[in-house]
Formats: sequence, C-alpha cells, structure tokens
Amino acid sequence: MKPDRPRHALPADAAGRKAVPPVICYPVERLPRPDLTPYLAARDGWSRVSQVLIPPREAATFAVPAGHFFRIISVEGPQVGDLNLWSAANPAERFFSGKTRALHGTHLSAGDRMWSSLPHLRPMALITEDTLDWYGFDAFGGAVHDVIGTRCDPYTHNLLSGGQYHHCCHSNLTRAFARHTGLPLAEAELAVHDVLNVFMCTGFTRDTGQYFMKASPVRPGDHLEFFAEIDLIGALSACPGGDCAAEHSSDGAACHPLLVEVFRPRQAPAGWRPPAANGYDRSHGL
Ligand SMILES: [Zn+2]
Repeated sequence: MKPDRPRHALPADAAGRKAVPPVICYPVERLPRPDLTPYLAARDGWSRVSQVLIPPREAATFAVPAGHFFRIISVEGPQVGDLNLWSAANPAERFFSGKTRALHGTHLSAGDRMWSSLPHLRPMALITEDTLDWYGFDAFGGAVHDVIGTRCDPYTHNLLSGGQYHHCCHSNLTRAFARHTGLPLAEAELAVHDVLNVFMCTGFTRDTGQYFMKASPVRPGDHLEFFAEIDLIGALSACPGGDCAAEHSSDGAACHPLLVEVFRPRQAPAGWRPPAANGYDRSHGL
C-alpha cells in the first residue's frame, strides 16, 4: 500500500508526470473477440453427458472433451466457486490467471478466453454465456468473475489468523485433484493454481488499492458457460466464504452447492478449430 505521508517531496513537475495518459499494456487487436453466434447456435439439440454437484466447502473434478460445453450453475443460494483448469493431455499446462487478466482485464465475461500457462499460452476455454453480464462495474468498482484474487488458502489464513482450517478452496482443490489423479496430496497441491473466481464480486478500493469482496449478486439459476477448446480437467471448489459477503477461511458463512453440467453439441460450432500450439520457438535467444 502507498504511504499516507510520503517521505519524499513532490517534484516540481509532479502534476505533469501524473497527467500522462495510460496506454493499454496488451493491445488485443490481434485477438479479436470471437463472434459467439456459431457457439450459441451449436447448443441447439445438445445433450448433457455428465453433471456433478459440488457440496458446500468441498471441490470436485470434471472432464470436458474439446468441443464440448460446460456450465457452472448456482443452485439453492448465492455461492462463489473457485475454478481450476488443466489440459487433460498434459496437466502441466494449466490456467494462467495472471496473463488472462493482462489480456482481458480484471473480470471476465462472455467472449473472453481462459489462457494456459507458459510455455503453452493458448486458449483453454471460451466463455460463451454469462447471465450476470448485466452487473458490469458497480459504484465501488466491483464486478463479478475476477482473475485478480488467487484462492483462499490455509497458509494465508494461518499467517493472518493462526489455526488450521482445512476447507479453504486451495485445500478443497488439492483433495479433489489428488482423488482424480491418484497423486499423493503433496504433489497434487503443487498442481493447484490461481483461479477464476466464478460469481465472486470483487475489486480494488479506490483509495488504498486493496482487494475487496462484497456479497455476490448471483442467484439460483444464474450460470457461467464455457466452450472447451482443448480436452480439459476442471476442478471447482464451493468456497467456504459462501457469497463472500463477510468472511472466508472458516465455517462461519452460509454455503450452498454448485452444479457443473457438461454438454456435447450435435456438431462443432461452425468455423471452430482446436487452438494451435503457440508460435514462439522457445530458443530464448541462444
Ligand atoms: Zn475460497
């Protein structure tokens, strides 16, 4: 955080330096927002091939073949979900929250993609529908579906509050990935990564730039829908924060399940092709 009282005096040209207009770090003209029309049309006559109900304060995995859709659906009551994605073919390729944020902004919605980690950096999933897109940004600068938080975890909880809490999203995702892969817990933990905070309403305070949360506007029936660009393993944790109105990393909040459904379209969206490998040659100048 910036100090209330800086130790260094304003330089004479401070106002001019601060008035320089910003430029976008990553102009995305070469990444045009996809036309969602063929994706939405491909849903006609689709069939549901699997579903999993994620219990409160727990996580579960699900598989989504390339060319299929999946939905995360609010059921019973307002609830936030923490989503991890891995390539089913190579789980070392996983969702890259930070670069997705750099490309698409702090909060995702329909038309944005979830990008994979280096050295892959290719689309893993395309968001095709967001029933909370009406929310936009509120007066506090808050919005839903962020890629700015990480995931609640027992280490930060221990650092700030002490104690051992075992149902943070980090631990929930770790247990779920260990169950799915058969990996020892300590190895599975290393595969857990920064999440897409589904339905969570967050932002940065305007005065101190601190990460804030507020009660999620999600209601039962709301959903976030994705199209899988590659074969995926997903894991979703129903956060112990519930709607994240007040606290997380405890059993204090009212929590609800989340439903994940996977759908197979009758045919692939017109014009869709699986993403190519990234074009960088990996020689790193040598
Ligand atoms: Zn959480």
